[in-house]
Amino acid sequence: MKKTDVIIIGAGPVGLFAVHQLGIKGLKAVVIDNLDKAGGQCIELYPDKPIYDIPAVPECTGEELTKRLLEQIKPFKTEFYLNERVEEVHPEKENWIVKTNNKEEFMAPNIIIAGGVGSFEPRKVSLKECEKFEGKSVFYAVRNKDNFKNKNISIFGGGDSALDWALELSKFSKITLIHRRDEFRGAQHTLSELRKLEKEGKIFIKTSCQIDSIEGEKELKSITIKYDDGKTEKISTDFILGFFGLIMKLGPIAEWGLNMDKKTIEVNPENFETNKKGIFAAGDICSYPGKLKLILSGFHEVALASVECFKRARPNEKYRFEFTTSSRTIQDRLGKK
Ligand SMILES: Cc1cc2nc3c(=O)[nH]c(=O)nc-3n(C[C@H](O)[C@H](O)[C@H](O)COP(=O)(O)OP(=O)(O)OC[C@H]3O[C@@H](n4cnc5c(N)ncnc54)[C@H](O)[C@@H]3O)c2cc1C
Repeated sequence: MKKTDVIIIGAGPVGLFAVHQLGIKGLKAVVIDNLDKAGGQCIELYPDKPIYDIPAVPECTGEELTKRLLEQIKPFKTEFYLNERVEEVHPEKENWIVKTNNKEEFMAPNIIIAGGVGSFEPRKVSLKECEKFEGKSVFYAVRNKDNFKNKNISIFGGGDSALDWALELSKFSKITLIHRRDEFRGAQHTLSELRKLEKEGKIFIKTSCQIDSIEGEKELKSITIKYDDGKTEKISTDFILGFFGLIMKLGPIAEWGLNMDKKTIEVNPENFETNKKGIFAAGDICSYPGKLKLILSGFHEVALASVECFKRARPNEKYRFEFTTSSRTIQDRLGKK
């Protein structure tokens, strides 16, 4: 079990800035996110779109904002636990215990929930029989590409993830790329590369079709796809990779006994504490009178929550308000000479 001062759930912009606000107060945090990278909505939904309302940054994309936030918190050497969904939260004396779907456990006197609109989850293959192969032969992300070497792989999807993985895995496996439409959405150079590899017989492309059935008892053997005109085709398959995009699920957050208002958590706007002492909520997931779902509002919310976190994590110390420009202590924590 890992012990820390604050467990941050969500590595979106608000969770990232929470690390900063806690760090300058001398508090350690861990950050847990269900996604495989930091940035939340900014990186997942609009990495290339410009944002115009971050104070003192006239324009930056979702990806640039994420990079800047990560740069700003570098001095704190925070541990990130990605690809981990927080499932359980329960109290133990003055602390909270947090458990993830991969059985990681954390303990801290404070939790900041910066879970946005919930965890981003992959949209799954519509076929019920695929469930029993999930995590064995059916995957929605590639964690370690070595596991996909020298196999027959059927990749579903028509966007960047499907295309990029088709190209990458075709270096050492037989790839069939299957899409329900007859056009792919991808960068021009990716599409050209795809067509080149198709001509060379390294990638097989099947369009205007969907999965119809899967065959195999313990291990997946083949799949059958059905074309829009009703024809079917059997494809020898060891692994299915599905890239159908993401859906957002509030998921387990709704089960932690917090006062909810629709899909948001009610907080006290003085310190962003929920109805549970030591559990705070900030960013898109929190609600209070006048709440605006903006990144800058989330930044303010974690600044205030971090003060209360300090009081709980350091009950014998007095909290002193300081400016970063003039505090030697803060500058030391930021590694400034
Ligand atoms: C297209 C678009 C354009 C936008 N433009 C602007 C703009 O110009 N200006 C602006 O201020 N705002 C903009 N927004 C809104 C802004 O992106 C959000 O306000 C901001 O992302 C909220 O940040 P957050 O950190 O609270 O949550 P999010 O960015 O949603 O991040 C939450 C993270 O928590 C994770 N999570 C949730 N539950 C769990 C769990 N149980 N376990 C583990 N991880 C979990 C999720 O996977 C996610 O990564 C825009 C939004 C969209 C969709």
